[in-house]
Amino acid sequence: MCIFCKIIAGEIPCKKIYEDDLVISMLDISQTTKGHSLVLPKKHYDNILEMPKEELDHMINVIQDLSIHLKDKLNANGINILSNINEAAGQSVMHAHIHIIPRYDENDTVKIQYTQNEFDLDEIQSLLK
Ligand code: 5GP
Ligand code: ZN
Repeated sequence: MCIFCKIIAGEIPCKKIYEDDLVISMLDISQTTKGHSLVLPKKHYDNILEMPKEELDHMINVIQDLSIHLKDKLNANGINILSNINEAAGQSVMHAHIHIIPRYDENDTVKIQYTQNEFDLDEIQSLLK
């Protein structure tokens, strides 16, 4: 059983902030910023790409409500919502989850950087469209 399945089963404690039939939300143990939270399906999927669309639809609705709630209660000025999928993208717990990271200031400790690269946009578009 993975660590998040153990948390869902109540074998490992967590600071739960929301629960329904399909998902739970808990404070991330690392607290990158005050209120950094995770939303995860109760059923095990390795990542959000593996989830049935109805469950993911529900999860994203919960994330919208929780993000507004966190922003209001913690006086955050912004929010980052992100999911790391596979090790190449930084996923460390292989149970689907989405981070809600309240942001207070653009100079806080979170750094999400997009460096500009010289890829051929026409070539990529023709591959993808
Ligand atoms: P990932 O790196 O997979 O996107 O995110 C995993 C997150 O789970 C990390 O931010 C990490 O701090 C958090 N985490 C790992 N173990 C635990 C735990 O036992 N309890 C809680 N609440 N969070 C955890
Ligand atoms: Zn799991």
